[in-house]
Amino acid sequence: MDMTDDFRDCTLCPRKCGINRYEKTGFCGMGAEAIVNIAMIHHGEEPPISGFDTEDDSHGSGTVFFEGCTLKCPFCQNRAISQGPTGKGQVCDVDALTEIYLSLKWQGAYNINLVTASHFAPVVAASIAKAKERGLNIPFVYNCGGYESVETLKLFDGLIDIYMPDFKFWDEKLSGEIIKAPDYREVAIAAIDEMFAQTGPAVMDKDTGLMKKGLIVRHLMMPGQLFDTKKILDHLTERYGNDIYISLMNQYTPMPHLDFAPAPRKDILLRTVPLGHYDSAVDHLVDRDQYNAFVQDSTSQGDTMIPPFRI
Ligand code: SF4
Repeated sequence: MDMTDDFRDCTLCPRKCGINRYEKTGFCGMGAEAIVNIAMIHHGEEPPISGFDTEDDSHGSGTVFFEGCTLKCPFCQNRAISQGPTGKGQVCDVDALTEIYLSLKWQGAYNINLVTASHFAPVVAASIAKAKERGLNIPFVYNCGGYESVETLKLFDGLIDIYMPDFKFWDEKLSGEIIKAPDYREVAIAAIDEMFAQTGPAVMDKDTGLMKKGLIVRHLMMPGQLFDTKKILDHLTERYGNDIYISLMNQYTPMPHLDFAPAPRKDILLRTVPLGHYDSAVDHLVDRDQYNAFVQDSTSQGDTMIPPFRI
C-alpha cells in the first residue's frame, strides 16, 4: 500500500476522522505534509534521554517537534505549535526528515526524539528506516501523549527503540471533559502494551547511564486529582513493575491563556498541584517498590523548559 493512502481516509489516531487530508484537516489540524516546527538539542527530558551533564550544551536529546496534535490538551505547554500549522514550520518529506536526524547526530545528539509524530506516522516511519539504512545508529525515541492507535504503532515496530508516552487520565469523565477523549484510558492501556511488546524491558547503557531501549511512561499530575494519579500508578506498577520507568511530574502550570479563553474544568486547570499530593504520589511509588522512577523537586513548575518555537 502507498503511504499516501493513510492520509486519504485518515484513521491514523483513535479520533478516526476518516477524512482526506489532501483536501481538509481533521482534529489534529494538519494536512498530509509533515511539518517540523523546530529541531534542536534539548535538555528538558529525563536524564537517561537528555544526558546527565546539564552544563553540556553540545550534547543532549536531538529533538524534533512536529506541528499539530491529536490531543490538543488545553493546558499544553507546547500550545504554540500543537494547535495546528504555524506557517513558520518546515514542510518535510522522507528525505528531509532523514537529513534532520543525521544533522542532529552530527551536532551531538544522544538520540533522535520525535515529539508528537503519530499524525504523520507513515512518513516518519519511512524516514527512520531510511536514516538507519544510512547508518544512523543512535536510539529513536517516540514521545507522545499516549493516545495512540495500535495499528499505527505497528508501523514503528523494529524502528523505535524507546517509547515515552504520557498516561494522562484514568477517569473517563475527566478525560472526556478536558481532552474530549472519554476512551483515553483504554486507548492508552492498549497503546502502552503494544509499545512494551515492541521494546521489551528497559535497558540502560552501563557506561553512560543513557537509555538504549524500553519505556518511560510519564504522568503529569493534575491539580486535585490524586486519586486519578494513584489509579494510573497502580496499573503501571502491577502490569510492568520495574521493567519500565515511570516519570512522575508535578510541573503542571496553569497556562496564561486559560485565564481568559473558554476552557473546560477551570476549577482544575487554573490551579497547581498541592505539594502534599505530590509527596503522597511519590510515597505510593515507594510503597509499590517502583524504584525505576523519576521524580521532580518543587522548583519544576513553570515554563522554563518550553523550547523556542517558531511562531
Ligand atoms: S491523525 Fe488527525 S485527521 Fe487522522 S484521525 Fe487523527 S486527528 Fe483525525
